[in-house]
Amino acid sequence: MAWARITVVALMMTVLAGCQTLKKVDQGLYQVAESVSERDRVTGQRTLSMANRSAQIKQGNAYIDKLLQQEQQKKRPINAAVNRSQYLRLVKVFDRIHKISHLKHERWKPVLIKRDSFNAFTTGGTYIVVHSNLMETLKDDAELAAVIGHEIAHTVANHVYERQTHAQISALAGSNSARRSGYQAAFTHESEREADRVGILYSALAGYDPLAASRIWQRKYAEQGNARALFHHSHPVNAERYKENLRVGKAVLPYYQKGRINPNHAKLLDNNVLWRKNSKETAAGEGGGVAALLSTALGAYVQHQEAKHEERRQGQQAQFVRSVQSALKLESSRKAGTHKLETRWRYAKNGPVLNNLVMGLYVKRNGKVERYVDHVKGYIKPGQVFAARFELPKNLKIDDLKKYEGGYYLDDVQSVR
Ligand SMILES: [Zn+2]
Repeated sequence: MAWARITVVALMMTVLAGCQTLKKVDQGLYQVAESVSERDRVTGQRTLSMANRSAQIKQGNAYIDKLLQQEQQKKRPINAAVNRSQYLRLVKVFDRIHKISHLKHERWKPVLIKRDSFNAFTTGGTYIVVHSNLMETLKDDAELAAVIGHEIAHTVANHVYERQTHAQISALAGSNSARRSGYQAAFTHESEREADRVGILYSALAGYDPLAASRIWQRKYAEQGNARALFHHSHPVNAERYKENLRVGKAVLPYYQKGRINPNHAKLLDNNVLWRKNSKETAAGEGGGVAALLSTALGAYVQHQEAKHEERRQGQQAQFVRSVQSALKLESSRKAGTHKLETRWRYAKNGPVLNNLVMGLYVKRNGKVERYVDHVKGYIKPGQVFAARFELPKNLKIDDLKKYEGGYYLDDVQSVR
């Protein structure tokens, strides 16, 4: 996850023994779940797993220990040496979330490293690593609590190892790489949703505003759009994530007591509006939640089906975005200020009425892709001309754009029915 990308590079190596002969993905999942399932810590039901917890911790922590060694070799600061007040803030918020989490009996360590990117990650062990940029970018402790809760939840729900298992299954199924990456992106998307839900519940129980997570993703959407057309499968979609997090935040709002740990937190972890432990039934209106996704061998099969469904849904939307993109023609572009660019577009005569259109401009600078978006207001009818305005940062002038590789793209759009 880029506080969304779990770093699993070092953890992706092991080959699942006994699976080479499997012909079909579904069959493979079924058998894997049968042979290596364990109790899921969230719901008390079974989930896919590759190793027991102490082996997981050993493997996950070895990766972070190596990272910390490298930081030292490169003479980069960690923790309080990065920024004392930010580190103390991280420790304070982390302690409160960890104290009410499913893993409170484990000894965890938050680590602050100096990096320019918005990221935090876990590797299945007992570390949570947070980038300094994330600490600087988040608006308050409640937003930080949402990130920490989300990260602990990845480990609680066993996502690192599920991901490993799923990656191996889809690799062994012999599907081509494009399909495989679609499937994996869909699976990642499902894991992100689960981690968001568990993390938001943690926030509420620990006395942090559970609506903070939705504010983070609302801001991301306003700043970056979805980047769906450009990178269509690889990122969780910001707009959907914002809405889903808002919904979950409101659902758990009754558990939130500002600034204090809910005295019923232990009971609420087992039975709450999102799931019920040791029960096949799920809370009304929650579509099964974590419980339905992660249970027994059948659950693994269902989860696989959900990922396939999600892959299909994302694929259809990406296709729609691409078809609208090909119906847009750039009429003109002009400099509207040193850092402002105004573009005018014509939408072709045939096609549905559009709304929620988001135009994007991307620039490849210093090896990184930067994206700027404009949310175009109102409906756009066939044949209509509309404007999109891009505002570039202080260190990038409109006149400098020609020095770099880049272009326009349609980031997101809905059709009006
Ligand atoms: Zn995540």
